[in-house]
Amino acid sequence: MQLRYAFRVYPNAGQRVALARTFGCARVVFNDAVRAREDARRDGRAFPTAGELVVKDAAGRFFASFVIDADPAADAARMPGTDRTIGIDLGLTHFAVLSDGTKIDSPRFLRRAEKKLKKAQRELSRKRKGSKNRAKARLKVARAHAKVADARREFHHRLSTRLISENQGIAVEDLAVNALARTRLAKSVHDAGWAQFLGMLQYKAARYGRTFVKIGRFEPTSQVCSACGAVDGPKPLDIREWTCTACGTVHDRDHNAAINIKTAAGLAVSACGAPVGPEPVLAQREETGSHGFPTEPRAA
Ligand SMILES: [Zn+2]
Repeated sequence: MQLRYAFRVYPNAGQRVALARTFGCARVVFNDAVRAREDARRDGRAFPTAGELVVKDAAGRFFASFVIDADPAADAARMPGTDRTIGIDLGLTHFAVLSDGTKIDSPRFLRRAEKKLKKAQRELSRKRKGSKNRAKARLKVARAHAKVADARREFHHRLSTRLISENQGIAVEDLAVNALARTRLAKSVHDAGWAQFLGMLQYKAARYGRTFVKIGRFEPTSQVCSACGAVDGPKPLDIREWTCTACGTVHDRDHNAAINIKTAAGLAVSACGAPVGPEPVLAQREETGSHGFPTEPRAA
């Protein structure tokens, strides 16, 4: 399995000039990238096999990226097995609700970055068109945007790594069939970055020998009582809690859905006789600590 790592680098003035001259095809080794590579080796991760490629993003930041050959068997051996499985419901009131009842919100550092972005956007809208201040404000918005993207990715990395390490099987609802994703709230869905998060879960599951199941066909996860299995009918999105008319169980909408996702995933696994296997996995960027990431994913 090939994984692409990306690290924020800080070229000095001379290096910037050299980069500007050879941009697009330059393969430049920076100290930061070398250090990051050494870290990867010390942590027992595979040694990079390809040279560093330096790229610049819309906010004017530089990144060095390289591809490594990962060995899923070795990676899986480093992550102890467990019997736990979990269903994940993605929502709006919380980022995610787990079948064990855990509710996960966006962390404060992400909410703070989002607040700053909104403020920068407000300031930009107040600047006169064509003015110098407007150009300045636009760059500020681009930087705030990049910060939000970084903070969100960091959050997704932390959460996906935690869920993968704590559980042997992870079940989610495919975004294509997720009730929210089909509504006018889809923009918020997009903002929540669910696709990125699910992508991380998928490749980390493959990398660490976990089972990742996407409930791909239509499952009425928010209509079925997870206690007795009765189908209780459609629930508008603003109904956060409901009582099963068949057995009287009071349900938290998202928690009930997460349990149903987990149950449906279990059925799907036994019905086809095999867990979701090590299908080809797109290379993705990995955690890099404080170095940050490019704003757009790049396939290796
Ligand atoms: Zn019931």
